[in-house]
Amino acid sequence: MERMWGGRRLDSEFGKKLPPNTRIGESWEIVDRLEAQSVVANRPLKGKTLHELWTQNRHDIFGDVPETPRFPLLIKLLDAQERLSLQVHPPEELAAKLGGEPKTEFWYVGAADPGAELFLGFRELITREQFKRALDKGTVEDWVQKIRVKAGEAMFLPGGRLHAVGGGNLLVEIQQNSDTTYRVFDWNRVDATGKARQLHVDQALQCIDFTDVGPHLIEPNGEVLIKHELFEIQKWNLDSSLSNRLAPVRQRRSCPRRILSNSSSVAGSESRASQKSNIAAAGYDPDAVTAVCDRRIIFPNLRRP
Ligand SMILES: [Zn+2]
Repeated sequence: MERMWGGRRLDSEFGKKLPPNTRIGESWEIVDRLEAQSVVANRPLKGKTLHELWTQNRHDIFGDVPETPRFPLLIKLLDAQERLSLQVHPPEELAAKLGGEPKTEFWYVGAADPGAELFLGFRELITREQFKRALDKGTVEDWVQKIRVKAGEAMFLPGGRLHAVGGGNLLVEIQQNSDTTYRVFDWNRVDATGKARQLHVDQALQCIDFTDVGPHLIEPNGEVLIKHELFEIQKWNLDSSLSNRLAPVRQRRSCPRRILSNSSSVAGSESRASQKSNIAAAGYDPDAVTAVCDRRIIFPNLRRP
């Protein structure tokens, strides 16, 4: 998807074919939304959309999962060439009232330029009134916590956490299936015609958690990066033979690669082997770059070695 803050790294790092002369900021990798669908690439279910799998083959493919109208997660790659606007997503308890969808998300830093930063929560306690005054004066940046990041680090962002992606970050984003974002500040930027981007200050002020001071990056517990009711995310180092089969041709290298999963049950080496056979048994190509199987979504981290 074209974004003013995007770049070309989804081509250079992930081998995606991008339209020329565009700044591409997002690739929706696993998606079941009205405006976009993942489609099975091969084998017996070729051509089926994720929504069709979710509504017609749910139990066989995804296992025993809660009843929801759509596949509950949305997985994206983000190439932030420039800093994104400062924003917030609605927490569960406010989303309906504001006419949006709740969104809690997780970021995995696939690659980061030296000095790349994420903006997360506040540096110190602030009241809504103080924050409003800072917005009026254009000094919000003084209050926002900045964290320098490098590849391999990760962050959990519950709805209500003020945040922005800094320039030079290539992120894997795993989030609730939602597209509700309230932009609250755009760093005093204007476009070529002198116009500022549209903001959603009223809704944002209702959503922002002003007590969210100094949130930390995730400290992994072994392979588990996070265990949450919405998703569990694990990071696996694959041996080179499996990772080579999972990676697209132009990315093949004989080095370990990582894999992420939203499974709530995968653990140990036995599950890893059975995951691959599950993928095959479900009619998918186990060598596919991206596969969905039994509530598990796996994809290689294609950061260059
Ligand atoms: Zn966000």
